[in-house]
Amino acid sequence: MIRKTVISSGLRMAGIECDHMNCDAALEIEPCLHHDKVRASATAAGWQTVTTPTTRHFCPQHRWKEGMCAACPGGDLFDLIGHDVTGHRAARALYRVGFMSAEHVAAVSDDALLSLPNFGAELLRRLRDSLKKREQDKDRTVRYQAES
Ligand SMILES: [Zn+2]
Ligand SMILES: [Zn+2]
Repeated sequence: MIRKTVISSGLRMAGIECDHMNCDAALEIEPCLHHDKVRASATAAGWQTVTTPTTRHFCPQHRWKEGMCAACPGGDLFDLIGHDVTGHRAARALYRVGFMSAEHVAAVSDDALLSLPNFGAELLRRLRDSLKKREQDKDRTVRYQAES
């Protein structure tokens, strides 16, 4: 995400924030007006600019790889809930209020989740289904290991 600043002569792009949900890394750049310059500053600092089709920026710890989801940077909750519109909405709403992992979210009550901003019954149902599926997968893995 590009951070803009008002300088006496107008609005300038003055910084870049990592678009990974779990990251608050920011890169200060020399205030400028052109995306080419932003991109050059980002590249020089080891940051990455990805256009897929929206433009996103990633710090050196969160470099984007070919084959990753086009709409989000991935991560625990995105991968858990799923890479479709509903999944992305649910994961974003949860990351925004500081829930970072499936374990964390699984311990929260339905009422508490429904009181979050932008988190309705549809997203709650989806989240619970995903958590249930995750538990089943875990059971299956354990059983498989026990049998083999
Ligand atoms: Zn980052
Ligand atoms: Zn995604």
